[in-house]
Amino acid sequence: MARSKVCILYTGGTIGMLRTANGFAPAQGYFGRELEAIRDLHSPLMPEWDLVEFDPLLDSSNISYVQWNQIAEAIRDRYDDYDGFVVLHGTDTMAYSTSALSFMLEGLDKPVIFTGSQIPLSELRSDGKDNLITSVMIAGEGKVREVCLYFGNELLRGCRATKHSADELVAFQSPNYPQLATAGIDIHYKTKYLRDVDESTPFSIRELRKTRIGVIKVFPGIQFDLFSPIVKEDLEGLILETFGTGNIPDYDDALSTLISDAAQQGAIVVVCTQCPQGSVKLGAYEAGSALVKAGAVSGYDMTTEAAVTKLSYLLSQDLSRESISILMETDMRGELSK
Ligand code: ASP
Repeated sequence: MARSKVCILYTGGTIGMLRTANGFAPAQGYFGRELEAIRDLHSPLMPEWDLVEFDPLLDSSNISYVQWNQIAEAIRDRYDDYDGFVVLHGTDTMAYSTSALSFMLEGLDKPVIFTGSQIPLSELRSDGKDNLITSVMIAGEGKVREVCLYFGNELLRGCRATKHSADELVAFQSPNYPQLATAGIDIHYKTKYLRDVDESTPFSIRELRKTRIGVIKVFPGIQFDLFSPIVKEDLEGLILETFGTGNIPDYDDALSTLISDAAQQGAIVVVCTQCPQGSVKLGAYEAGSALVKAGAVSGYDMTTEAAVTKLSYLLSQDLSRESISILMETDMRGELSK
């Protein structure tokens, strides 16, 4: 049987970094040599693979919609030549990128697996080797046909993942959706949680543009008038990380004024919860009622990563404000449950 073919897109991140006088940084041209030295990657039991190195390589703190468009284009341009894709990426913003690409890749019917490492391949005890090898195997097997994040023996849905640890080797969680697979002696897929492919939608990409979105995390004693300068004409969206099921302090009018001003300017106001687990239930408490009155929409159990990138994806299209509000509350890629 012919071996499957996987394309590895290397965008930067710790996995390929080297020590410099200023701390770890990516080095152009070095990573291919590092991969040559990993014997398992050249086993006949592995998929065949090619490496595409981005230029410049980035610490993922510098990722924006520009690189998300480049990743989407790189996949589109090679889509018919490969059975699956592995995207090597820094861990810091990986969950934003997996969320963004989940929305941008429409009609996807091949695996797109993001991975990276907490310790560079060039250092002792690197977690990069296993993350990479297992991701290439998952991408070659073709059992998952969605954007995923593989890290620390767990395969997670990309638009459900969040980085929860700055130093553990199991650095990501999917607090509101089960893992899609776990890798022990075998890779064990949890078939019932995998996404069905919509065969009627051909594969295409939807690029993002620069969008003007703000995120405000509510805390006890927050002075909302501090934020009023952000409500300008060009504000397109505001994501509020609220308490519990969608509650905000109602001790002064500054927040309701802020939200209704934002809504009147045409911005979409999305209510998320700052609890890692569970969902927003707008209007369940009086303390959240101002949000409902001001026309805010519920982010249900979406991560902030999913909410930010979904809003950016919808704003990048020619959609009415009403359609965007409806779609924000609609499950599009398995990113929310009601
Ligand atoms: N700062 C690095 C990055 O996100 C961290 C990592 O890859 O783990 O690019």
